[in-house]
Amino acid sequence: MERGAQMYISTRGGGGAAPSAVAITAGIAPDGGLYSPETLPQLSLTEILSLSRMTYAERAAAILRLLLTDFSMEELAASTQEAYGEDRFAHPTVAPLVQTGGRRLLELWHGPTCAFKDMALQLLPHLLAKARGKTGETGEIVILVATSGDTGKAALEGFRDVSGTRMVVFYPYHGVSEVQELQMVTQEGANVAVVAVTGNFDDAQSGVKQIFNSQTAVAQLNTHGFRLSSANSINWGRLTPQIVYYFSAYADAVHEGAVKAGEPVNFAIPTGNFGNILAGYYAKRMGLPVGRLICAANSNNVLTDFLRTGVYDRQRPFFKTISPSMDILISSNLERLLFHASDLDGPRVARWMNRLASEGRYEVEPEVFSRIAADFWSGWADDAATSAAIQKVFADTGYLLDPHTAVAWQVADDYREATADCRPVILVSTANPFKFSESVLASLTGRAGCATGLAALKELSAVTGWPVPAPLSGLAGKPVLHRLICSPAEMPEVLEKLLYQSRNFG
Ligand SMILES: *Cc1c(COP(=O)(O)O)cnc(C)c1O
Repeated sequence: MERGAQMYISTRGGGGAAPSAVAITAGIAPDGGLYSPETLPQLSLTEILSLSRMTYAERAAAILRLLLTDFSMEELAASTQEAYGEDRFAHPTVAPLVQTGGRRLLELWHGPTCAFKDMALQLLPHLLAKARGKTGETGEIVILVATSGDTGKAALEGFRDVSGTRMVVFYPYHGVSEVQELQMVTQEGANVAVVAVTGNFDDAQSGVKQIFNSQTAVAQLNTHGFRLSSANSINWGRLTPQIVYYFSAYADAVHEGAVKAGEPVNFAIPTGNFGNILAGYYAKRMGLPVGRLICAANSNNVLTDFLRTGVYDRQRPFFKTISPSMDILISSNLERLLFHASDLDGPRVARWMNRLASEGRYEVEPEVFSRIAADFWSGWADDAATSAAIQKVFADTGYLLDPHTAVAWQVADDYREATADCRPVILVSTANPFKFSESVLASLTGRAGCATGLAALKELSAVTGWPVPAPLSGLAGKPVLHRLICSPAEMPEVLEKLLYQSRNFG
């Protein structure tokens, strides 16, 4: 496969085309849009099927070389080897396709934090560190993250001890679960720091945004040799690693005889910010035989409504559900789908996004909507249906679903009923059930609130016979390494102290 130079342009039409290293270091385009591929490279069926003979790290390098053409093959091979090659993932094939109850599930949660964000966040730091050299940056990259729990931990694990990078995570004090807090304050790594903020998640997030937007703070950091960057889910460097596992799953499914070579499959994907499912869309556009991408939502069903009507309306109640990583009303990555579905019409995407910001709503034209509807279908499941799916699948098969994956299981059933589409379906499984022990336990037993925190892990294991995954069971004995607490107003000062006196790190 030839490597044509792949360039990235803003979804809002501003600025010129940039190579991937610029897109990855900048995170967001200068006009506020998202960097997206101008064209998409194509893989032949033979190339796709040949992936089944490779390790996961090799599969990743083979796909990424077509998208990140300004990286050398050596750089990509080294990066994917560091991310997926050693013992960072608890499963030898990294992203195994498993079979249960006549269904196939793609398990993306064997990484160090037991959820699918590891698939991207284990690789992004290496891409970022190498991109820095290409864009002429000499400073050390500083990643700031405000987290409501899971992303912070996954980013910490990805960035720890990656040379040329530092990371500071701010989380709301008493605003994350006991297990999430333990995961963060026991984090090892000489280049990472974790700070509790006396406020809620929005306070921590506004504090981080203010640092990014403060010219004095940025200039001050630059004079000390630091360059701010972000690891959030709109960064192209987080999206590309996710394209890989769609190809990988398909090659495995054909290799196992579950799917005929070239036969289209459907994927059902638990969706929040639209990153994971968008990666599946890119895979399809790159030649992967995909029928429908089934977008599974919880009660925050803004995407279901959009994919059924073409109207995106965020003005609706916000629900806290048992699948919290999908509790989102503004799905940022949807902007990239709009860009491709409107033939890269940046000004048009900018109008929709402005309307979303000012009126909370926009509607796409019928010709754009019909293109989207050809590739996507969407349904949703509330907490009761999610719990029922966890309970039923465990009773029928002994397989334990986490609440996010259970939403996809239920919606995949609803899809088959609604459409009579009998193509093989692959469920994308996004978290280890122990990550959400309390609600999984409540779903199985029908009783809420029996055990919490670390006790819930043990109880879930006792009830199901499934082992507590090592990264979670090991938490009890780990020393607390991060004890800093500050107010939102003190965040810039704390950041400077941490960076300029590096002894505070680790
Ligand atoms: C982040 C997350 C999702 C949603 O993925 P998006 O890419 O934001 O759509 C689903 N499940 C789990 C467990 C997650 O952590």
